[in-house]
Amino acid sequence: MSTIQLTMVTTKRMDADSHTRALRVKALATEIGFDAVGITGCELGEAFHRYADQMAAGYGADMAWLHEDEERRGLRSDVRRLHPQARSVVVVAANYGSDTPGYLEQPPTSEQGWIARYAQGKDYHVHVRKMLVRLARAFQADPALGYPSHAHRVFVDTGPVLEKALAQSAGLGWIGKNTLLLHRTLGSYVFLGVVLTPLELAVDPPGLDRCGNCRRCLDVCPTDAFVAPYVLDARRCIATWTIESDEPTAVIDPEALGQHVFGCDLCQEVCPWNTKAPATTHAALAPRPENLRPELESLMGLDQDAFKRRFPKSAVRRTDGQRMDAVARLITERNRS
Ligand code: SF4
Ligand code: SF4
Repeated sequence: MSTIQLTMVTTKRMDADSHTRALRVKALATEIGFDAVGITGCELGEAFHRYADQMAAGYGADMAWLHEDEERRGLRSDVRRLHPQARSVVVVAANYGSDTPGYLEQPPTSEQGWIARYAQGKDYHVHVRKMLVRLARAFQADPALGYPSHAHRVFVDTGPVLEKALAQSAGLGWIGKNTLLLHRTLGSYVFLGVVLTPLELAVDPPGLDRCGNCRRCLDVCPTDAFVAPYVLDARRCIATWTIESDEPTAVIDPEALGQHVFGCDLCQEVCPWNTKAPATTHAALAPRPENLRPELESLMGLDQDAFKRRFPKSAVRRTDGQRMDAVARLITERNRS
């Protein structure tokens, strides 16, 4: 960070009004139901370059990145390029952790599939976005804050915004060796949301890495998807195989797939920071019983309408009936052979 940037950050931190506003913003986020909140500035700096290097090395599953020109890619480096009015970034987290047994604790039978925890409840895009919109409206309604709600822009896993890097910068936690954001008490089962705001707010110190000598996530990965600590080759990740790939049967290694029909939680399940994390208090994000170890057979042969009925308002709809059918059949045939 340059001397000039440092001076600006320090000035921001020492400004009494920006402190008062930051406290108010955090109180509103908590009232609305977010489990954690932090504030950072607009520019990502080194974190953006790390991301860009990994994408350039071909490790990314970020398909959008591959098709973007330099200008659009650069939007991720500084949120003001996306929203020129922005002066601060408010990063929030919603806990979706659950005390239902995980894949390793209670492995699915050979007839059952596993849906990643983040997709077991209601679609987080819908739930967290609603909360973010309420937060932006609360900023408008508060006399101490006072910008119209449209002056704020909200993102939840949408748009060219690096939520994890912003969250670390905002002090919510650190990006672990499994490449996920880890919060000290909530662990990694959190959805992140971002508000780009014209409010001048005091920023928080960045989160410190607490992985230490641990490497459980690296060792448990059945596909050896981690090229190194903190570096995931998403092309080898079960989540990419089962959710993103156009031809799952061409890319999936059936022996490494386990019973995963949609995503994989293994590098989170083994993380010690998730062991004592509390279960979600968001009813919408709690697992739906039908998404816990569903019978593989029930996931096969669903046409698009049947698939939508089976997964209403669900992040599972990131895939479609055809892909899920292909993955479920692959597992079934492997188990029979
Ligand atoms: S989600 Fe599963 S496959 Fe992907 S990196 Fe983690 S353990 Fe490996
Ligand atoms: S399992 Fe260990 S190394 Fe991996 S993210 Fe968690 S604490 Fe870090």
